[in-house]
Amino acid sequence: MKKHQGIDASVGFAVGPVHAIQRRTIVPVRRQVPNREVPRQIERFRQAIDAAKVEISHLIERLSSELGPEEAEILSAQLLILEDEMVWDATLALIRLERINAESAFARAVGDIASRFLEMEDEVFRERVNDLHDVEQRVLRSFEGEGVGEGAGSGLELPSQPSIIAARNLTPSDTAVLGRDNVLGFVMDEGGNTSHVAILARSIGVPAVVGLKGAAGRLKTGQKVALDGAKGRLVVDPDEDVEREYKRLAVVDRVANEKLAGLRDLPARTPDGHRVRMYANVEFPLEIEEALARGAEGIGLLRTEYLFFMLHTIPSEDEQTELYAKMVKGMGGRPVIFRTLDVGGDKISDYLGAKREYNPFLGWRGIRFLLANRPLFKTQVKAVARAAVHGPCKLMFPMITGVQELREAKQVVAEAYADLAAEGKEHRADLPMGIMVETPSAVLEADLLAAECDFFSIGSNDLIQYTLAMDRGNARVSYLYQPLHPAILRSIHRTIDAAHEAGIWVGLCGEMGSETRLAEVLLGLGFDEISLHGVALPKIKQVIRWTEVAEARRLVDHLMTLTTAQEANEYLAGYIAARKADRAADPDHNGSTEGKN
Ligand code: PEP
Ligand code: MG
Repeated sequence: MKKHQGIDASVGFAVGPVHAIQRRTIVPVRRQVPNREVPRQIERFRQAIDAAKVEISHLIERLSSELGPEEAEILSAQLLILEDEMVWDATLALIRLERINAESAFARAVGDIASRFLEMEDEVFRERVNDLHDVEQRVLRSFEGEGVGEGAGSGLELPSQPSIIAARNLTPSDTAVLGRDNVLGFVMDEGGNTSHVAILARSIGVPAVVGLKGAAGRLKTGQKVALDGAKGRLVVDPDEDVEREYKRLAVVDRVANEKLAGLRDLPARTPDGHRVRMYANVEFPLEIEEALARGAEGIGLLRTEYLFFMLHTIPSEDEQTELYAKMVKGMGGRPVIFRTLDVGGDKISDYLGAKREYNPFLGWRGIRFLLANRPLFKTQVKAVARAAVHGPCKLMFPMITGVQELREAKQVVAEAYADLAAEGKEHRADLPMGIMVETPSAVLEADLLAAECDFFSIGSNDLIQYTLAMDRGNARVSYLYQPLHPAILRSIHRTIDAAHEAGIWVGLCGEMGSETRLAEVLLGLGFDEISLHGVALPKIKQVIRWTEVAEARRLVDHLMTLTTAQEANEYLAGYIAARKADRAADPDHNGSTEGKN
């Protein structure tokens, strides 16, 4: 038995046989061809590309019907690569000038582009390299005349029994081929929380552990493993005790989730009558169904940049309006908070013009990028205002550091309304406007900002990063991610006080909202709304329904007297253990799931 620690990409437990994805990598043999054969090689190249296109289109169809059209967009990027001028020009030049066979010319052309992308060293480009490699192998298989069909041409064998999919890395189209059938979970050597496989695992509700640094790629089909997606743990060849324990935890988890499903239509109201709104964070349209199934009362954070990334282009005003309207309608009258594009930082996108910088998180991101690209910003606002005729929508601006930025953003909104009125387009011109509070300066001038906007949403991911000066993407300083650090508790406390004094509400949309152990702290701090991924919502709601707000406030009062995050963590752990014991003794509260996260 061997245990490995990776990155927790999707919660849940699984025990089962491995289905190892080991693709045969095709390395074409370079062959010199006589001059007269050049046209034939060009024709072979065209045919291989056409065959690969047909294959990808089939996959897109399949993915659309299984997961929804939006997920399928990921694969559309691969179609674009096959039509990319860079790929065509480089391949044709190599065939003509070096007089080599089409497959080796194509492989070299793609390899050159991939190494240029790799030099850029950022995640978006690395994802692209994945796509490029995927496409390259697909085309090379077409040269070899492999057929089109279920799993064919992908070099993938589908699992024939319920299995845990193990791979060094999975490409977007691999995940499309695998679909949902017989998939118990995923383990992967590469990738982070934002990798496609993590997103797919969350959307189909299976556990995933990524970043396993070699442990996943070494697994063999049929080998038994146990997986804890919440803790990022993989146990290879588990002994009987571990297997029994993981199976038990999987059942406990399932039963707890089934029990929690009963909470869907109940409000997050404490026994002493305090009400908190429970909203969902959404990146992709497909997540709406899940959010509603878990009882989301609205979308508290729609990360619109992911919609742009998904489409691999800047959608027009009409396209955005259509996409947003669909999501607003999908929420059936519940509010949707559109966060205007938050690119920059780790969310680089070449076609949007956000470039890699020395200090990207301190650079051209969020509202700075939007105000420097006003036409893009205004177009997005116009689309939201038009979509808002189908249901309540709000606008939220990212990375605000001061009142001037807020005023300028509001000015853009006013211009958007004026344009829409002049163009005679149906829209709403009264969208509530709020800001993400995620920079220390926004905290320090929360009173000034609260006087000029309609709501706050605390982005704890960035607030912790900026307050504690720890890069949120750097594993070496990740120990500093401490939501209970006195500086963070004080920042949140101060922000909520300022907002309430000004008569506006405050939400939370950072990941700290999904930590069950923190639910009572959030209640005691006084959040009016908590927005989180749908899967985690019921557990947090349950804690709120069990906890008197007066008690939660006392807990926070005590935590605020402590001097370090360690002291606060220890105190909270003891407090939760004591509460759990009390509840276990109380027949009304059997089946507690508190503190598991
Ligand atoms: C945050 O910073 O907490 C947040 C919710 O925004 P993002 O994670 O998209 O930066
Ligand atoms: Mg943020």
